[in-house]
Amino acid sequence: MSEPVAVLGAGTMGHGIALVAALNGHVTRLYDVSEDALEKGVQGVRSALDKGVERGKTSEEERKRALSNLEGTVDLESAVTGAGVVIEAIPEDVELKQDTFGQVEKNAPTGALLASNTSSLSIEKIAEPLDRPERFVGMHFFNPPYILDLVEVVYGPDTSKETVEDAMALARSWGKEPIQVRDVPGFASSRLGIALGVEAIRMVEEDVASPEDIDAAMELGYNHPMGPLKLTDLVGLDVRLDIAEHLARELGARFEPPQLLREMVSEGKLGKKTGEGFYTYD
Ligand code: NAD
Repeated sequence: MSEPVAVLGAGTMGHGIALVAALNGHVTRLYDVSEDALEKGVQGVRSALDKGVERGKTSEEERKRALSNLEGTVDLESAVTGAGVVIEAIPEDVELKQDTFGQVEKNAPTGALLASNTSSLSIEKIAEPLDRPERFVGMHFFNPPYILDLVEVVYGPDTSKETVEDAMALARSWGKEPIQVRDVPGFASSRLGIALGVEAIRMVEEDVASPEDIDAAMELGYNHPMGPLKLTDLVGLDVRLDIAEHLARELGARFEPPQLLREMVSEGKLGKKTGEGFYTYD
């Protein structure tokens, strides 16, 4: 594909997705509503590339090429005009995403692939106001997108087969491992991740074992690279609580957040970002 890739939202995920696109040879337009956020995002791309060079994962040549492929803008229309692919990574708010894609549809080429990086919202719902929902799909990257290989390609009832194939092919061409998932709450990754996470928290609550030993059970016994409690600390207890509440509403009581999770969130123990969760951090 020779047309530019537009990435909407220059935050944690957007700057990382833009980095992947730029490294893979696409002219990449990174768009944000905020000048400051855009600057931070571009800086994030720069420092990730510098680290890649330091660690020998990226060559100096690749770093230069990726930076020359990257364009930052605070103008949505110019970001998506002529783009072959638009990937949205703005906040997890269905109306905001609907409005944004409404504007995207007016300015992007008719055949452009439109993708959302939503981690939990319904693809069908985001596409509701669109004229061309068949070109809309979920492309759920993982944090950080330039390190983690999984992309969940989530198809709604109106997403066309060709759109799913285009999204799968795009992810593969970026060196990712895409999986195809129907548009259900939690898709595949969050549903399984939260199931394990809430059960591990219930086990702490019931004093079955220490957090270290519960994590070791999964790390050593099942070869998970990180136990479910360490992972909860990394993602943020508040973030996991929100997802568990959403899944409990949509899928039933088995996802009901444990009392301990609610208490820790209300005490401000949100994990690594606040220095305390199931573990403590400097
Ligand atoms: P973030 O808060 O780090 O970044 C969001 C960015 O969007 C900010 O820079 C903000 O200025 C910008 N923004 C706000 N309104 C906008 C608008 N109308 N148009 C353009 N830009 C706008 O958020 P994030 O963590 O990068 O999450 C973005 C999306 O990715 C969400 O849907 C989230 O669920 C999903 N996601 C997040 C993670 C994660 O680990 N953080 C992982 C997978 C998916």
